[in-house]
Amino acid sequence: MWGEDLTQLLGLKIDKVDMPQALSRIEGFLAGGQEECCQVVTLNAEIFYQAQHDPALQDVINRADLVTADGNGILWAGRQLGVDLPERVTGIDLMLALCRQAPSNGWRIFLLGGAPGVAREAAECLSKDFPGIEICGQEHGFFLKEEGGPDRVLDQLQKAGPDLLFVAMGAPLQEFWIKEHQAELKAKVAIGVGGSLDVISGKVRRAPDIWQHLRLEWLWRSLSDIRRLGRLVKLLKFTLLIKKAKKK
Ligand code: UDP
Repeated sequence: MWGEDLTQLLGLKIDKVDMPQALSRIEGFLAGGQEECCQVVTLNAEIFYQAQHDPALQDVINRADLVTADGNGILWAGRQLGVDLPERVTGIDLMLALCRQAPSNGWRIFLLGGAPGVAREAAECLSKDFPGIEICGQEHGFFLKEEGGPDRVLDQLQKAGPDLLFVAMGAPLQEFWIKEHQAELKAKVAIGVGGSLDVISGKVRRAPDIWQHLRLEWLWRSLSDIRRLGRLVKLLKFTLLIKKAKKK
């Protein structure tokens, strides 16, 4: 079932791609004229752990068109279980790399997610950083509970018909939402990018380079936001899960 470029870790599919390969796969989706929107999942350790206990999430991941290893936790898990994954391909790095290439390729972009105002600010920052980029729409990510919100956003997306849709509503909500609406999205590619719009808009700071270099971005994120401390428990459970699987 798993080809050369594809592997699995504890039942979850992961594509063995580095950043250039991930970009070229997405370029293929954008050029390919598929009937349905292609779904890209950037899989981090927390979602990996959650999927072990959630068959519906496991199914979404395994049916995605591309799954990248988002974070050193997944690379470490691969090493423990004898799977060589080339490098981490995070949601934000993938998003920025695609935005960099968008102007010359004419890719139109829709930003969905974050608190009200964040997507607009992120759009302004992207326009400054990547002159010529076409942001064909943006919308905050708290529309699900608004009366008429889900239909309004789908309608907006259908009218905009973007090439790339970045959904920044946090995992796994964004993955489930993309899967549920895949057939009606009228985007060529949809990628869940978590808190990326917060970072791009400057609302949240990304871990300084030294923390990233030391492979401690996950720790920096947890320590810099008290609400994320609980996530450390999930990461610990992820570590124990992998250690246990290694012993088998
Ligand atoms: N968010 C959203 N809609 C929701 C819940 C959350 O748009 O219903 C946004 C939230 O404002 C934040 C992002 O989703 O910008 C989640 O960021 P986080 O860093 O927690 O996501 P992760 O990268 O861990 O998936």
